[in-house]
Amino acid sequence: MSEPNSGSDAFSLTTTAIKKGTTYILNGSKIFVTNGPVADLLVVFATVDKARGPDGISAFLVEKNSPGMNVARKLEKMGLRTSPMAEVFFENCEVPEQNLLGREGGGAFLFTRSMTWERGCILASAVGSMQRLLETCIRYANERKQGGQSIGKYQLVASKIVDMKMRVESSRHMLYHYGWLSGHRKAVYLEAAMTKLHIADCWVKCCEDAIQIHGGYGYMTEYEIERELRDAIAGKLYSGTSEIQRNIVASMLGL
Ligand SMILES: Cc1cc2nc3c(=O)[nH]c(=O)nc-3n(C[C@H](O)[C@H](O)[C@H](O)COP(=O)(O)OP(=O)(O)OC[C@H]3O[C@@H](n4cnc5c(N)ncnc54)[C@H](O)[C@@H]3O)c2cc1C
Repeated sequence: MSEPNSGSDAFSLTTTAIKKGTTYILNGSKIFVTNGPVADLLVVFATVDKARGPDGISAFLVEKNSPGMNVARKLEKMGLRTSPMAEVFFENCEVPEQNLLGREGGGAFLFTRSMTWERGCILASAVGSMQRLLETCIRYANERKQGGQSIGKYQLVASKIVDMKMRVESSRHMLYHYGWLSGHRKAVYLEAAMTKLHIADCWVKCCEDAIQIHGGYGYMTEYEIERELRDAIAGKLYSGTSEIQRNIVASMLGL
């Protein structure tokens, strides 16, 4: 979906898909394509008529090595380095009409629907990561001694661990609540945005607290907490930034 000039304002994309006989001709470029360098099949959003705005956006399945498609550049990231990312260019790329996903002009609906699902679930693994960070910090706070006692006996350290516990539990509850609602086919647009917003925030804060509790050791790559922080920061960006989740929540509150 994302393009160099359309990120948060996703429906302002400019990649075009012009029908010619039994094929669509794609022109434009995409950026931040997760798994782009290894993908066999890409879901590409393009407009069949810019004047129609979101109603012109359509989704296409584009196979690797399609003529005119170029997976151009592997993008290096701050974190999430096991998830490769690319920039993809389309220059008169021919896509058979049967590769249109859903109906022509139905791309915005498909995108909103799948993004709602993605927002609700994408940070599920972060709850597990926060749980592990919590356990690691409890262990460390009990073992590490300064001033003749375990650092966990200092209220300022214990308080951070309490905050971490609160974040893990509240994140888990929001995630499960979203899952329950979704499983019962109830509306989840608001809950998905709140779940993503909350877990993303909690994950970064848990990482910061974990580094602080480990002191200088937490800053060392060997302890792998700084890696966790670098990964966590991306959670506030992908699948809609935290600001965009706030916009969604505000709009659902009638603001
Ligand atoms: C690790 C990672 C993986 C990604 N994977 C994919 C992928 O697979 N496919 C894909 O299509 N995209 C992917 N993205 C792109 C991601 O969806 C965009 O980065 C994101 O939507 C923000 O767009 P942008 O980077 O263009 O920032 P911009 O939209 O330019 O935003 C810049 C800043 O302005 C703020 N802002 C913008 N508009 C508003 C507004 N209306 N109200 C308040 N604040 C606003 C933003 O919150 C942000 O802080 C990925 C990004 C990352 C970091």
